[in-house]
Amino acid sequence: PPAPDCNAPAPLTPAMTEGPYYMPGSPERTSLVEQGSPGNRLTLTGFVLDENCAPIPGAWIDFWQTDAAGSYDNTGYGMRGHQFTGDQGRYRLETVLPGLYPGRTSHIHVKVQAPGGPELTTQLFVPGEPANQSDRIFDERLLMDLQEVGDGAYWAQYDFIVEGGE
Ligand code: FE
Repeated sequence: PPAPDCNAPAPLTPAMTEGPYYMPGSPERTSLVEQGSPGNRLTLTGFVLDENCAPIPGAWIDFWQTDAAGSYDNTGYGMRGHQFTGDQGRYRLETVLPGLYPGRTSHIHVKVQAPGGPELTTQLFVPGEPANQSDRIFDERLLMDLQEVGDGAYWAQYDFIVEGGE
């Protein structure tokens, strides 16, 4: 299992715009992939940590993204889901690499909140995506650590550093 990528005191994960397509009330689930979902499979995993690199169990993480073709589901909860970190502050999401839509590079939207802490809204980006260079809000601090694991499947890590709660 991966180890946290964190050196205390760690800078907070940067916030980023929510965009127009967030829908509250996503289902609790760790896989956004449905049978027959096209695209490159992505396993995204990592930790939610505080600025001292201490893991935050029970943190809420809500993901939403386009499908592989760059479309949001704005009538249902396709490619949307939330989960809570486990005892070691770890999360794991099964999804697909998001596609492109006009004006944006590939990105995964996410909200993260420690129990009793403030809500962070941000986005994760895909290293090596050419459209990153023309995206006006791209931030390299939000790049996933991505590896191809064969057969069009990818594994990525991103550790969120957020303000702790009570
Ligand atoms: Fe978006």
